[in-house]
Amino acid sequence: MSAAELEAIAAEVVGCQKCPLAKGRVKAVPGEGPPDARVMRIGEAPGYHENRQGRPFVGQAGMFLEELLGVAGLKRTDVFITNVVKCRPPGNRDPQPEEIAACSDYLSRQTAALKPRVIVTLGRYSLGRFLPGQPISRIHGVPRKVGTVTVFPMYHPAAALHQPALRKTLLEDMAKLPAILAEMERDPEPSAPPPPPPPAGPPKQLSLF
Ligand code: URA
Ligand code: SF4
Repeated sequence: MSAAELEAIAAEVVGCQKCPLAKGRVKAVPGEGPPDARVMRIGEAPGYHENRQGRPFVGQAGMFLEELLGVAGLKRTDVFITNVVKCRPPGNRDPQPEEIAACSDYLSRQTAALKPRVIVTLGRYSLGRFLPGQPISRIHGVPRKVGTVTVFPMYHPAAALHQPALRKTLLEDMAKLPAILAEMERDPEPSAPPPPPPPAGPPKQLSLF
């Protein structure tokens, strides 16, 4: 966990001009949450309201996200929330591969600075970063270890606004998160260094002269 690094990344994002999305934005949306959050949630890209406020998931999808978090006994302020792309694509179109590539380093650095135990991916762009080529329809709601972090793929909450049947799926998947977190609690910290090997023989006497 590094609060200073997370702040530094956010400051860079706010002034970033690395891709064409910089031109159309009102505000860049670096992401937000406590620097010691165990859970990181990664969406796709800011929408209309996020672009105006400079904060992630504050529109309709955000309201549903808060409801979803409630199912897992979590508040919005318990988790770190960000997106794959930090500036709004015009008209909420899908982010382009060049934009995702240009923005990629910020998310990698945020993940490295936060060191979450669980990353909840929301939608296919976010999923594609950790489990490329895996169809969300098959692997949603199934936790998967990727390195030292547990990736938990979910549909994007905005999808449920268009396809009401997905609402139930999202709620059911979210209900699995507490058990995953409880399992983490029993695990040793993944970032803890491995215990040192036992000494080969009796400790050497230091000779003074
Ligand atoms: N959808 C996203 O993917 N991210 C947001 O921040 C808002 C809506
Ligand atoms: Fe920079 Fe990412 Fe915004 Fe593009 S989307 S301008 S790379 S912060």
